[in-house]
Amino acid sequence: MSDTISMNDKLATLTFHVDKNAHIVIDKKICSQCINRCCLHICPVDNYQWDEEGNSLIFNYEGCLECGTCRLICPLGAIQWSYPKRGSGVVYKFG
Ligand code: SF4
Repeated sequence: MSDTISMNDKLATLTFHVDKNAHIVIDKKICSQCINRCCLHICPVDNYQWDEEGNSLIFNYEGCLECGTCRLICPLGAIQWSYPKRGSGVVYKFG
C-alpha cells in the first residue's frame, strides 16, 4: 500500500465557512483587456475560468485556499483580494 496522498485527498480534508460577501472582487472591465490571463493557470484549485461567450472571468471565491497567488500574479491589478471575514474561509487540518 502506498503512503502517497494525492492532492484531491488533501483537498477533501478541508472545510469552508463561506461568507456571503466575497473576499475576492474582480474588475471585469480591466479583465476583459488582459491578454495573458495568468489567473486561469495559477490557482491551485482552478477557481478562475474564462467565459468565452460572455468575454468575462468567472470565479469561485467559496473554494479559495487563501494562498493569495492570484492577487500577486494579476498584471493589471484587476483582482482585489483580502482575507475572508474572521471565522470565514478555509479551515486547514494539521496533524
Ligand atoms: Fe486560487 Fe489562491 Fe487565488 Fe484562492 S488565493 S483564488 S486558491 S489562487
